[in-house]
Amino acid sequence: MSRDSFHESVNHYFNRAASFSTLDEGLIDQVRFCNSAYRMRFPVKRDDGTITVIEAYRAEHSHHRLPTKGGIRFSPDVTMDETIALAALMTYKCAVVGVPFGGAKGGVRIDSNTISDGFRERVTRRYTAELIRKNFIGPDIDVPAPDYGTGEREMGWIADTYKNLKLNSGDAYACVTGKPLAMHGIPGRKQATGLGVFYGIRSCMEIAEDMQALGLTTGIAGKRVIVQGLGNVGYHAAFFMQRDGGAIITGIAEREGGIFNPNGLDVDEVFKFRNANKSILGFPGAESIANGQELLERECDILIPSALENQITADNAPRIKAKIVAEAANGPVDFEGEAILHQRGILMIPDLFLNAGGVTVSYFEWLKNRAGVSFDRMISRHEELVKRELVTAMEEMTGVKLSEEASRRLIHGPSEEELVIAALEQSMMRAYANIHRAWKERNLPDLRTAAFLLALERVAESYKHHGIFP
Ligand code: GLU
Repeated sequence: MSRDSFHESVNHYFNRAASFSTLDEGLIDQVRFCNSAYRMRFPVKRDDGTITVIEAYRAEHSHHRLPTKGGIRFSPDVTMDETIALAALMTYKCAVVGVPFGGAKGGVRIDSNTISDGFRERVTRRYTAELIRKNFIGPDIDVPAPDYGTGEREMGWIADTYKNLKLNSGDAYACVTGKPLAMHGIPGRKQATGLGVFYGIRSCMEIAEDMQALGLTTGIAGKRVIVQGLGNVGYHAAFFMQRDGGAIITGIAEREGGIFNPNGLDVDEVFKFRNANKSILGFPGAESIANGQELLERECDILIPSALENQITADNAPRIKAKIVAEAANGPVDFEGEAILHQRGILMIPDLFLNAGGVTVSYFEWLKNRAGVSFDRMISRHEELVKRELVTAMEEMTGVKLSEEASRRLIHGPSEEELVIAALEQSMMRAYANIHRAWKERNLPDLRTAAFLLALERVAESYKHHGIFP
C-alpha cells in the first residue's frame, strides 16, 4: 500500500460522509478540494560545504477560515499528495473540535533521524523564507506547527526567521505554534496531542452501552493497551493512559521493533531506556519482538497507533485483536483496513477527533501570542482573592477552620498550564459528545462518518456565508 493511497482513504471517508448530507454538490466539492498548494525546491549547504537541493511543500486545504493551520513534517517519504491529504484532514479536524482555522500541512523531504543539527536549522530557516516569499506563512495567513520529525526547536527557528524578515509585524510570534516556552510558546502544548488522546478515549469508554457492545466494562482502568510509536504523541498518550487512566500498557512498538509484557510496562522507564540505548529492544523484563508490526496483532483491549498513516490495511486488519483502535496518528487505518475492522465489530475512534488536542492547544498559543499576554496574567490573582473571601465567609459561617493545605488547594489561582489543560479537556469532551450524538441520532455507520459529516457541514456553512465572492 503506497503512502499516496492515504489521500484515497481521506477522500473515501469524506465521500461516504457526504453521501449522508443534503448539501449542494458544488458546495461539497468546495469543501473537498485543496485550495492551494506550493511545491518548492531550494538549495541548502551540507555540513561539508557541498550543496543539496531540498524538495518541500505547503498545502492550504481550506480558506473558509483564516489563518490556515497545520504541522510541518520532515520525512524522506513525504509527497505533495500526502501533504494535501494531511491538510484536508486538518480542515476537518479543526471543524470537529471548533478551532476556527482552515487546514494546512507542510512537508520537507529530509530524514529527521540522520541529519545534523546545523543542517536541520539551515533547512528549516530556508523553508520558512520560501514560505514568506510566497505568502504561505503569517499570523493571519497560515500558521505551521510540529508534526512527524519536527518539534519545538524547529518552531523556534521558524518564529525567529519570520520575526527577522518581517520587521514590522507586531505579533510575529503568532506565525507558528508549538514554540519553546522561552519563545512565547504555551505550557501544555507539548503533551496536548497525547493528553487529548487520553481524554478522547476516556469520553468514549464512559458510555456503558457502547462498551457492552464490545464486551468491555466502562472506564480505562485495568484495560490492556498496546501503543505504536513512542514519539511525542505516542509517549504522552501512553503516559496519561497509564498515570491518569490506570491502564496497563502491555506493548510498545517503535521503528526498531516492539516490546511486550502482559503485566505492564512503565512508560517513563521505557522512554528513558530508549533514549539511553537508542532502541527499546532489550528492555528488562519484557519480550523483545524484532518486527514491531507484529505487536499490533497481539491480544489487547485498546490499540493506539501513534506513528504514521496506513499502518492497518487489508493485509493485517483480519488479525487485529484489539476491541478499540484509537487513532492517535493521522490516517493509521486505510479504508480497506477500516472496512475489515468495522465488519469485525472493532470500534475505531477516528483521528480527526482523537488527535485534535494538538491543534486545539495550538489555537490557545496563537490567541496568547495575538493578545500579547498569558492567560493566567489577568485572572489568576483575582480568582485567588475571590476564593479567599469565599473560604473566609464559609469559615465564619460554620465556625470550622480549614487546614492550611485544604485552603491552599481551594484558593489557589490557576496557572496558565491549568487553564490550558482544562480548556483542552472541555474541547475533547464536547467534541466527543457531538460526534457520538450524530452517530446515534442520525443512524450513521460509525464515529468516523459522524465526525466527517459534522466537519463537512460546519465548513460548508461557513463557505455559504463568508467564502464565496460573486
Ligand atoms: N501536526 C499536528 C496535527 O496533525 C498539529 C497541528 C497544529 O498544531 O497546528 O494535528
